[in-house]
Amino acid sequence: MFSKMPKKPEHLSDGSMTLFSFSDKGYFLWKRGTKVTGYWAYRKSKHDFRRREEAKTKGQYAKRPKSLNEFHGYLFDLDGTVYSGDTLLPGVLSTLNRLREQNKSLLFVTNTTIRTVEEVRMRLEQLGVACSESEIMTASCAAGMYFQEYEPGARVLMIGEQAMKRELERFDVETTEDASGATHVLVGMDRQFTYDRLTQGMKALRNGALLIAANPDPFCPLDDGAIPDTWSLVRALETASLRQTFTVIGKPSAYYAEKVFQKLDIAPEECLMVGDRIETDIRFGNDHGMYSALVLTGADSRKDIVLTGIEPDYVLASLRDILADW
Ligand SMILES: [Mg+2]
Repeated sequence: MFSKMPKKPEHLSDGSMTLFSFSDKGYFLWKRGTKVTGYWAYRKSKHDFRRREEAKTKGQYAKRPKSLNEFHGYLFDLDGTVYSGDTLLPGVLSTLNRLREQNKSLLFVTNTTIRTVEEVRMRLEQLGVACSESEIMTASCAAGMYFQEYEPGARVLMIGEQAMKRELERFDVETTEDASGATHVLVGMDRQFTYDRLTQGMKALRNGALLIAANPDPFCPLDDGAIPDTWSLVRALETASLRQTFTVIGKPSAYYAEKVFQKLDIAPEECLMVGDRIETDIRFGNDHGMYSALVLTGADSRKDIVLTGIEPDYVLASLRDILADW
């Protein structure tokens, strides 16, 4: 299938274009109509970013240091970054208020599949953070967009919780319980996951359905430990079905980045991605041309930077550190 990929953008008769880009799992086909402006900006920046990275390895270039007040867009992960359990983390409110005063663009980007966008907004509101639903992106919301945009005829066997189902309904995605008729198996976090569910998913995949992972998170940290997350279930399905994951939707994927830049309409190098997980948040920022800041209030610590080899541009003790440059 890869040999048929276009080498450059192709204009189709209906005025849309096909493009391809690199995702976690290989080449990824993009088909779109007129909403291409943001995408081109992103492509160009990604190209520039790769060029800079190549130059950096040759010792020719270092990312221009910026002070933390210089960005136009501020992207925040939620769990471990803005709140932990039911508690708002230190400095969050004062930092967000200051950014609002300065007319900065804010976006909350989470890999959660167990809360809808509306539920995330209400949760933030309960904690005293006012925002609109358009300032929130979740992995199941992005999954809904993905199916609506690229697989409008899909019949999706969903392994996940009610929130993901409601998000899919919002984007008119058809779900099915019929393993033999499913075109895709979409996997999110499912705290009621059973052997029967694994068997159904396996049957659908062996029958030719494509495996879509809502996010690549192996576990979800809680106040008193951790519970298995989406990727644990994806691996079980891969193992049982002998099929590989077709694509990953959430951070740090290229698809999620594209949706984010469409929402923000800001060049990636003008954005700061703040998060507590290196493999998803920091990689998301670094891979897509943004600046990245690891905040030490959640999952990862400084030693994880060495362990993963993924380096953030900034390390913050808490979100309050963003105000230090004001
Ligand atoms: Mg987090």
